[in-house]
Amino acid sequence: MFASLNEGTVAPTLFHNQIHTAMAKTPKTLSAQVQALTQRLEKLEASLGKKRSVRNHKDPGHFCSMPEIPARQFDHDVSPHREHLIRLIDKKWVNGTKIRYYFFPNGPFMGDNTHRDFVREAFKIWKDVGIGLQFEEISDIEEAEVRIGFLRDGRSWSYLGRDVIDIPGQFERTMNLGWDLNQDPRGVDTAVHEVGHTLGFPHEHQNPFAGIIWNENAVYDYFGGPPNNWSQETTFHNVLRKLAPDESEGSAWDPDSIMHYSFASGLIISPEQYAAGLQPALGLSEIDRQEVKRFYPKLKESQYETLTPFHFDMLSLLPAEQKNYLVQPDATRTYTLQTFGNSDTVMVLFEEVNGELKFLQGDDDSGTRLNSKISVRLYPWRKYVLRIRLYSNYSSGDTGVMMW
Ligand SMILES: [Zn+2]
Repeated sequence: MFASLNEGTVAPTLFHNQIHTAMAKTPKTLSAQVQALTQRLEKLEASLGKKRSVRNHKDPGHFCSMPEIPARQFDHDVSPHREHLIRLIDKKWVNGTKIRYYFFPNGPFMGDNTHRDFVREAFKIWKDVGIGLQFEEISDIEEAEVRIGFLRDGRSWSYLGRDVIDIPGQFERTMNLGWDLNQDPRGVDTAVHEVGHTLGFPHEHQNPFAGIIWNENAVYDYFGGPPNNWSQETTFHNVLRKLAPDESEGSAWDPDSIMHYSFASGLIISPEQYAAGLQPALGLSEIDRQEVKRFYPKLKESQYETLTPFHFDMLSLLPAEQKNYLVQPDATRTYTLQTFGNSDTVMVLFEEVNGELKFLQGDDDSGTRLNSKISVRLYPWRKYVLRIRLYSNYSSGDTGVMMW
């Protein structure tokens, strides 16, 4: 959740306590007492005035600004429904993937241990929901899918899901935490939000089903001012732009999502109840938990099926569902593994190396007339796991898989 910075308030109890303290320390004569009390009150007034001026300044706090990626275009023969399902799923990782993350040990992107701990905690918070993804901190940049920087430039962001492997160069950041999280009233939530992007979840306030009508000029002013100083383009990309109905996760809008910003009063015109401001609760919402489990349910290897050469297996999946196989080659040679049917699928083959499943090869046929297909040399004494996630069966019939 993106709660805004708390505006400074002075509780009346504090005021009274300070007067009591002042009186306890006053000299004995009455005039001296009055004088001391007056001075004390003047000091208090001054400090209250200072706090008031901070409060009136309306510091909105920092907000996440995601990098802009050109929207994917589809061929004219891809139906809206098929496009819908592809957009819903195509940034998500294949479930079971171990996402390895890396902190820069020196240079401008290095962060202190406190900040690294925020990110470690953020990964743990998602993992503790009970999901099939795994996370590991590693020190070899070449092996890491996620590279996290802490450049203090006021910009926090992450690429979205699998864009992490497709878009940046191999030594560039895929995520940045751009301000002091110790000073951020959202605490670890900022890091949890950025990790949420890394897992493939977009901004929830851009969910078209939210039906938010913005006071656009006020929104541009708000994010265009300090400390964010966003260009109109950045504000449009991160706030005003509605995601295509297909890109968002479903019909329900979740204003408490960790992927939702907080908004000050005067930014939202409708729904009217948020005209005075919208403050998501802290932490993952119930819907955040359901959604991450929908795409990344816990996996049990004992439930995997076995794929052997020349045996056709029906996938029988609903959109976004995934099937997992233990692949059993019968000889050392090059095999082809392929899906069949009018379907969009993403298929990834992993090989066990030193007790860990490592990416071997993958294919994604979404939005094309092709089928997912992998050709690879396999060895019968090694262990392989094949994972296939379905986007859609775009015409009648099911989808199957075979290796030969
Ligand atoms: Zn964000």
